Amino acid sequence: MTIQVERLSKKFRIDQVLNSLSFKLEAGEKMSIVGPSGSGKTTLLRILAGLEIPDQGTILLEEKDVTRLSARQRNIGLVFQQPLLFPHMTVAENIAYGAHMNGKKTESTVKDLLAAINLTEAAAQFPAELSGGQQQRVALARALAIEPEILLLDEPFSSLDPNLRQDMRYWVRDLLDKRGITSIFVTHDREEAMLMGDKIGVFHEGTFQQFATAEEIKLNPRNPFIVEFFDHHML
Ligand code: ADP
Repeated sequence: MTIQVERLSKKFRIDQVLNSLSFKLEAGEKMSIVGPSGSGKTTLLRILAGLEIPDQGTILLEEKDVTRLSARQRNIGLVFQQPLLFPHMTVAENIAYGAHMNGKKTESTVKDLLAAINLTEAAAQFPAELSGGQQQRVALARALAIEPEILLLDEPFSSLDPNLRQDMRYWVRDLLDKRGITSIFVTHDREEAMLMGDKIGVFHEGTFQQFATAEEIKLNPRNPFIVEFFDHHML
């Protein structure tokens, strides 16, 4: 599923959080959005997901204008910084909840996803019995259970300890590759952005200062902000 964003703008009082932002992703492409804290990354994801209304601009999924559709009608998967699982439901039930929302056959979907996140054994356990990393894997499985056209991930590893975070990066990237899911991954971590995205949107002052592969950014940083932002991380 392709996603195309055209001249998206959003203002909170005098704060122009998004300023005519445009980009396009091909089907199966993975993108990272990296930028300073408070620059508007979460706001952009919330607008894409249909949780916030833009002042201007359009969002096209596979050429279809979804700008006025509700979150549910867009069929976009979301993974947040905190897993936000239902505490009274087992792991399997949490995942089934996602599948139900989409009227999918639950049993085979849940089985498949439990295997994909390596938690088949934990199917009957409750979220509180799992580690933070395991909980985040369940949250990912629940988001995938709706068979989303696009998966949005908002700093999903930032509450995990550094070792686990590293493992999760490779693991999630591999899972998204295997499933060919178009995804947008928000982070403030430059290394994580480079690892999780085929393309990186460097976000500042309401727009992308550069939208390119890590290689292109490295070879040809577009402006002083990019040079300073990445500094010794890659340039
Ligand atoms: P980031 O994810 O890059 O840290 P956010 O999208 O969370 O940035 O926030 C961008 C700016 O928009 C911040 O200044 C924040 O205070 C402001 N903002 C976000 N949501 C709202 C809201 N609902 N009402 C008013 N201001 C908001």
